[in-house]
Amino acid sequence: MNINKNYLNLEQSYLFSTVAKKVVDYCAKNPDKKIIRMGIGDVTLPLCKTVVQAMHKAVDEMGIQETFRGYGPEQGYEFLQNAIKRYYKKRNVELAISEIFISDGAKSDLGNILDLFSTDNVVLVPDPVYPVYVDTNIMAGRKVLFANANSNNGFLPMPDEISQKVDIIYICSPNNPTGAVYNKEQLDAWVKYAQKSNSIILFDAAYESFISDEKLPRSIFEIDGAKDCAIEFCSLSKTAGFTGTRCGYTIVPNELENLNKFWLRRQTTKFNGVPYIIQRGAESVFSEEGQKEIRENIEYYKENAKIISKTLDRCKIWYTGGKHSPYIWLKCPENRTSWEFFDYLLEKIQVVGTPGSGFGKNGEGYFRLTSFNSRENTVEAMQRFESLFGTK
Ligand code: PLP
Repeated sequence: MNINKNYLNLEQSYLFSTVAKKVVDYCAKNPDKKIIRMGIGDVTLPLCKTVVQAMHKAVDEMGIQETFRGYGPEQGYEFLQNAIKRYYKKRNVELAISEIFISDGAKSDLGNILDLFSTDNVVLVPDPVYPVYVDTNIMAGRKVLFANANSNNGFLPMPDEISQKVDIIYICSPNNPTGAVYNKEQLDAWVKYAQKSNSIILFDAAYESFISDEKLPRSIFEIDGAKDCAIEFCSLSKTAGFTGTRCGYTIVPNELENLNKFWLRRQTTKFNGVPYIIQRGAESVFSEEGQKEIRENIEYYKENAKIISKTLDRCKIWYTGGKHSPYIWLKCPENRTSWEFFDYLLEKIQVVGTPGSGFGKNGEGYFRLTSFNSRENTVEAMQRFESLFGTK
């Protein structure tokens, strides 16, 4: 038996475990201090009323002989596929049911999709970014190159900066951790590049619902020609608070004939679908009432982001993000490294964030704060911030 030695090439992920350990140690030494956590990328508001009602109804159906359901279609129930189809239609994106695959979230699909690609493909991943893209490719033994995202390019690398032929291109917009969002012209350049170089774009739209500027694209398929060269991953985790409930969807266009067929084959072989109850909840997210309620939650987080941004403005701390994203990406004042700044904030004001260096080498010297928190905590954390960095 030979094990997959590629796993030995994974870098240990110390980010969140080190954050947790530092906080535990600090609390043990300072039991009277109140810590405010602004580091975790998890939602804090509960599921909205309409979703809970839809799920309750589905639970009742499961307890009655006439409406009980066993295994469902691996690629999802048509009622949810149709709801997603209508959702895309609002942005003038036409999807066929056969292009919409329901999943238990974007993370699984982002990893699983790699089954469809040869291991000798070269992968391009933005740096900094959500670490799953790198690790899933390392596990498979693929070569990973990085596209530098930094303050010079507004944390939005472009194809003219690529020096070598790549086959698989990851784009995360709005980006985790920087909150940077590509506009239509920029995404158009990526689509043209992918078409010309016969590469595929894996577009992660997990934070699309945080985009409030109508002119900014929420789906790669708003760009002409994208159906020939892109797959889109989306999730109800941040859109509708499904981080613990688990539901997402992946769009594999029919234009990518083999990939669409392979993905269906892969899912029907290795996946047995998302629970009926969860899919009924997910369907209700796209109803008129559901959309209204999730919008209220998103606006709540966005107001938190505004409170953070305004505080950073007053403290004259450079930042980006926070407008079309739950994340605020700030430059550590006084040229501290990401971890030095982490320790400084914990020690001085007991506010916990995420060191930028945990998202890639270009994240060094930066820090991520999230708006996923209560209003009270956000306000208090920012009052502490302001008392430390002063109003200039
Ligand atoms: N994509 C990005 C960019 C994320 O930040 C996250 C979660 O934080 C995910 C995907 C995972 O989403 P899901 O909960 O649907 O697996």
